[in-house]
Amino acid sequence: MKKNIKDLSLEDLQEELKLIGEKPYRAEQIFKWIYQDNVSTFEDMSNISLELRKKLENNFTLCIYSILDKQISKDGTKKYLFDLSDGNAIETVLMEYKHGYSICVSTQIGCKMGCEFCASTGVGFIRSLSAGEIVEQVLAVERDENVKVSNLVFMGIGEPLDNYNNVMQAIKILNHPKGINMGARHISISTSGLVPKIYELAEEDMQCTLSISLHATTDEKRDEMMPINKTYNIKSLMEACKYYIQKTNKRISFEYALAKENNDNLEDAKRLVKLLKGMLCHVNLIPINKIDNGNYVKSSNENILKFRDYLNENGVVATVRRELGADIDAACGQLRKKVLRGE
Ligand code: SAH
Repeated sequence: MKKNIKDLSLEDLQEELKLIGEKPYRAEQIFKWIYQDNVSTFEDMSNISLELRKKLENNFTLCIYSILDKQISKDGTKKYLFDLSDGNAIETVLMEYKHGYSICVSTQIGCKMGCEFCASTGVGFIRSLSAGEIVEQVLAVERDENVKVSNLVFMGIGEPLDNYNNVMQAIKILNHPKGINMGARHISISTSGLVPKIYELAEEDMQCTLSISLHATTDEKRDEMMPINKTYNIKSLMEACKYYIQKTNKRISFEYALAKENNDNLEDAKRLVKLLKGMLCHVNLIPINKIDNGNYVKSSNENILKFRDYLNENGVVATVRRELGADIDAACGQLRKKVLRGE
């Protein structure tokens, strides 16, 4: 089986080249062709000898995605469905902001977390994506749109911290100055709250932003919305977050999706202040998006603003996340795993 060359960091590629009798310095050239020139074939690597190009071809794949579907929202957001050539497909979303392009990538095919309000979970879990399969989402979108993506969020399908090693490797590749050179400060990892992995992440020397999907202020409510809370409750999650902040000196972003008469009343806001006050953090309020079979209804705009103002007036910085791509089911919680064969 050929290896996906995009699973390799520069150092890994140097090692692989040694194994096929090549000089390791070639790795930088190849890396540049892959990540800066974004070539679609080994043949396109024109300053590499024909012989080496053949060797690469015989030993590696370039993991080029074909686009099965592309939808464009009226706000300009684009949602891609990529073919993983094993019968599975994944969704990736490209958003345009004033400061540039931001991409929302998937980390798994399906998700194990089972959050009640999220479409990514309803259809079960198949497998995790490899580092190269994560990175190729960026490259495939850049090739298609002829743009340079400057920000990345691990907020597509899957739980990034449940695919920890591959996500870390993907960041290493995205980050590399000889490659895509995306600053870690421009990368956000979002988690439903895998506490042991938050401690592990705290030990990494990296500048990414950590987002925590909190969504509720009591264990009773969070158990109901997010089954992971039964394993790692709010108290243990908050302890992990405090440790993370203390260790990294970085601000955490808490995501809170507001659903009408579910988690959006004044008592919730008060408890949220109690949980977060004094912490180096920010709250991202998300008007909850409707999904098929979803029992949750978006809070009224008036209520969302009231909730936000209460937090801000009581010492917790909160903003409302702009809704993008909802008309093409590309907004938070609306991405779904797709199985191509047998459907
Ligand atoms: N598994 C990770 C990554 C997914 S990120 C996590 O849970 O954080 C996607 C974000 O959208 C998460 O904060 C998730 O809780 C939120 N989300 C899921 N379904 C949603 C919905 N229907 N409306 C609004 N946000 C939703």
